[in-house]
Amino acid sequence: MHVERKTINADVAITGIGLHSGIYTRLELHPASAGSGITFVRSDLGGLRIHALQASTTALDYATTVGKDDVSVGTVEHILSAIVACGITDVDIHIDGPEVPIIDGSALPFMHLIDAAGVKSLGVTVPVLRITEPIEIVDGEKSIRIVPSNRLVIKYKIDFNHSTIGRESFHFDFHHDNFLRKIAPARTFGFMRDVEKLRAAGLARGGSVENCIVLDDSGVVNGPLRFKDEFVRHKILDLVGDLALVGRPIVGEITANRAGHALHSRFVEKILAAAAMSAEQPSLAPSSRPAATFA
Ligand SMILES: [Zn+2]
Repeated sequence: MHVERKTINADVAITGIGLHSGIYTRLELHPASAGSGITFVRSDLGGLRIHALQASTTALDYATTVGKDDVSVGTVEHILSAIVACGITDVDIHIDGPEVPIIDGSALPFMHLIDAAGVKSLGVTVPVLRITEPIEIVDGEKSIRIVPSNRLVIKYKIDFNHSTIGRESFHFDFHHDNFLRKIAPARTFGFMRDVEKLRAAGLARGGSVENCIVLDDSGVVNGPLRFKDEFVRHKILDLVGDLALVGRPIVGEITANRAGHALHSRFVEKILAAAAMSAEQPSLAPSSRPAATFA
């Protein structure tokens, strides 16, 4: 199973504040050649390149960060989810600071940015990573699991001890239009009660009612919500972005329960380890095949 490699047609740019750093950055998407993958380019640091791959992840607290040596790019998951949803496999993401702008807290501005650039085929294909045996991570009440399917399907459940969120679940069948309508507009969210603690830890410094859903003990401070179940939809948005770090398209049926960036990351690591094991032992007889193989 293969899909076409794709990039964008033209350079496009967007600027804004980073959710955690509070630093304003300019982000530009540039077309890239087939096989180069999705790469962050620190334009303020001589064009240092950081591949958007699991091996580059350096931090997973409240957002996903990729880095190389002492240099990093934070909160990469929303733009990566938009890139993956548009079927883009190769693009350079130039950024002149340490964090992707949060814009409105969703992936919709990035979908519009890619739409403005246009998407083009690179004339070659990439093999899709296809799960043939279940892979699962369980951590107390949190879990995430993938089973074989020829499409990407995500079933996500959350359960927050908060009257507005509570239990939500959403079943998402991955394709561009579905993502654009049902997932991309869902915004990130945060709790007033955590703000002081987060800011003391150097986080949420750019967070405001303009770029995330803010909740206090009684409800949403800056309503209305875009969807009544916007919170679980945003978790799917995050997971799609974290799955981009696999480095190629993936299919399978994923069930996630109360997961988050840290669990998503361990999950991607386990998928890649199983894929590497399967690639190393291609000639094994079916009876002695490793637990997970990929086509
Ligand atoms: Zn998010």
